[in-house]
Amino acid sequence: MQLSIDLTGREVLVTGSDFAARQAVRRYEAAGAVVSRLSTPQGAGHDGPLPERPFLVAAVDDGQAGWEPLLDRCHAAGIPVAAEPAAGRAGHVTLVGGGPGTGELLTVAAVNALRDADVVFYDRLAPYQELASLTSAELVDVGKRPGHHKVSQGDIEKLMVASALEGNNVVRLKGGDPYVFGRGGEEVASCVAAGVPVRVISGVTSAISVPAAAGIPVTHREVSHMFTVVSGHAPLTEKELTHLAGLGGTIVVLMGIGTLHHLAAGLRRAGMRADMPMAVVERGYRPGQKTTIAELGTIATAAAGCSNPAVLVIGEVVRVAEANRGHAEAAAELDRLAASLLGS
Ligand code: SAH
Repeated sequence: MQLSIDLTGREVLVTGSDFAARQAVRRYEAAGAVVSRLSTPQGAGHDGPLPERPFLVAAVDDGQAGWEPLLDRCHAAGIPVAAEPAAGRAGHVTLVGGGPGTGELLTVAAVNALRDADVVFYDRLAPYQELASLTSAELVDVGKRPGHHKVSQGDIEKLMVASALEGNNVVRLKGGDPYVFGRGGEEVASCVAAGVPVRVISGVTSAISVPAAAGIPVTHREVSHMFTVVSGHAPLTEKELTHLAGLGGTIVVLMGIGTLHHLAAGLRRAGMRADMPMAVVERGYRPGQKTTIAELGTIATAAAGCSNPAVLVIGEVVRVAEANRGHAEAAAELDRLAASLLGS
């Protein structure tokens, strides 16, 4: 069960050792509560009334013995007690996949890691608009735009490691999945090299979810039984183009806007049909999401105005989306008809 109560100006007593309670304190302060602290059970005295009658007691599970009498007294006095997890051990890094850009596609593990973080280093493609409501951690924007490197990859790694070595729970929040064109492997390696414990929380990759946002299934029975995810960051070689065209499955391209012409022309040279359907899905799950559908032979002109971030999909599965869209539109039309008949 999750309750949300307006705590603005409310007295909240947070119990538990300073170390274990540090994140709960930050969370309640961020929610506007007036926080007081009790770091040892002895501090409460044995039987007398609580120093001030708080609106709520946040009891952090810090592993110390001796909190029960205090909590019993709260129960007896009708003061609500919220059980709070202890802050995790300090000094480690969690790489978190943030999904394609909406908080709704964060995993439960990602939400928990953000809640427990002391510092979050986030990317432009991560769901950063929602961060303030998900964590009270310090937020550091290390976002990179193609061509405008805000903070270099090496510097991001140094910042993360230094912050963890200072004792912080560091979250590195990335777009999609950390291991899909996300340089997650390099960031893990730099933590390991510095002796900083590190773990990775997988995220929903844009390679699958952004086509889905446009109604395109990357596989479909009897249409495509494989999909290949390709980076369009650098142009593909002739050999790669030939292999790709020969596979016969769905091709999904990330970072592909800059090399779109080269790719479409290359796949044609490698023998792919000019009428192979192709889609460009821009800004999946974000304001201004847009799908452009054309064919391999016409996409270069059709997608002339498209910009990053976008996912390209090449293959017959694009037609499945079109067929489904047709059905969805027909169904909506029937609904409208039924409604107008009922209304008349
Ligand atoms: N690790 C990420 C990919 C990083 S590469 C993942 O697993 O999704 C960055 C590329 O991802 C962008 O150039 C674009 O091709 C794609 N991308 C990420 N989020 C997107 C979104 N919301 N809409 C469209 N494309 C997106």
